[in-house]
Amino acid sequence: MIYQKLGTSGLAISQIAYGNWITHGAQVDNETAYACVHAALDAGITTFDTADAYSETRAETVLGQALRGLRRESLELCTKVYHPTGTGHNDRGLSRKHIMEACHASLSRLQTDYVDVYYAHRFDSTVSLEETFLAFSDLVRQGKVLYVGISEWTADQITKGAALARELKVPLVASQPQYSMLWRVIETEVVHACEREGIGQVVWSPLAQGILSGKYAPDKPLPQGSRASTSAGAPFFERLAGQWLRSEVLQAVSKLSSIASEAGLTLPQLAIAWVLQNPQVSAAIIGASKPEQVQENVKAAGVRLDPEVMRQIDTTLDGLIERDPAKTG
Ligand code: NDP
Repeated sequence: MIYQKLGTSGLAISQIAYGNWITHGAQVDNETAYACVHAALDAGITTFDTADAYSETRAETVLGQALRGLRRESLELCTKVYHPTGTGHNDRGLSRKHIMEACHASLSRLQTDYVDVYYAHRFDSTVSLEETFLAFSDLVRQGKVLYVGISEWTADQITKGAALARELKVPLVASQPQYSMLWRVIETEVVHACEREGIGQVVWSPLAQGILSGKYAPDKPLPQGSRASTSAGAPFFERLAGQWLRSEVLQAVSKLSSIASEAGLTLPQLAIAWVLQNPQVSAAIIGASKPEQVQENVKAAGVRLDPEVMRQIDTTLDGLIERDPAKTG
């Protein structure tokens, strides 16, 4: 495993982080969840990503159980606030009330006194940035949150948030956007805004939810047990990755397999290594429904891809890549 600093902060994180969206508390049973977490730890992953809203809060509970008893200082635990955690009108968003209540609930489910990175899971246009950042500032002063991040904010929102964070001395250090060979919307604006502010990218769905593993074959039924085929995964898959389940994309992806094998990699490893070639990317968050996937995917850490390989990937995916920054969020 490679460990590197998150943006310009002093916090070192594992270049490959493990995330439990859709899987823990929903798609996989707890034994499998624990086995995946242990495969991650065995491979040197120290950075774990979750959110209060994942699997209606069950994901944090499962992760807390899986990590119980481990040396807290050896882990970076990251969670998020914004999406609904209940049906009450204050059970969502970035108000002071919800941030405070959500943070305390997350700490309890994760069985920890503090989180290393606490993300605003989306931008909340119904609450002033001042209110949100003052709440974050108080959590930081209380020692319950060490660093702050944002997820799927536009460049303009990030710039405004960073100015306020500076004023309030809130360590805003992380951006968590979707990023993969197929989804490159951060490249034109978000990455530059973050670079100016010293904010690192911790990217999600580097495999485009499994599309870039190559297992979704053109004109074939969905593989059994895959995210796209399970009741826990299908709605999210359909909304965020369904656009890629068409034969022109799947055919292009199958061509990437030979590029991967010529580079001595599997296709998932190539896809994860690809996001890590961007110097603004501090870590890639991988998801897994089986420990074997973790064991395979972590081998992307530290891989350098030749410019020629990068060029071949772009040629293969030409016309299929989403780059529009307006798609942020
Ligand atoms: P990936 O793109 O890495 O997709 C992971 C899924 O792909 C696995 O669960 C598995 O699904 C399949 N897969 C993984 N490895 C392999 C392999 N080697 N061979 C075949 N299939 C494989 O990431 P996720 O979409 O899971 O996102 C990762 C994390 O990012 C999340 O857990 C979460 O922490 C974070 N995230 C953050 C968001 C945000 O808004 N901030 C939004 C979404 C995610 P299966 O076997 O079931 O098909």
